[in-house]
Amino acid sequence: MINHHLNEATLLFYAAGSLGDALSLVVSSHLALCPECRERLRIAQQAGGRFSRRSRRRR
Ligand SMILES: [Zn+2]
Repeated sequence: MINHHLNEATLLFYAAGSLGDALSLVVSSHLALCPECRERLRIAQQAGGRFSRRSRRRR
């Protein structure tokens, strides 16, 4: 049913909310079926949060 998993770049863009609407739909439907990618998204979100906090402080 699942041919391939989401790659990390896609997960990072999705976590940052900078993925297009069509791709976001693909990603969210994959996530609904795939706990493995959901776990990787959680890790990507934590990493992304750390990055944005660091770049905010740099201002
Ligand atoms: Zn997956």
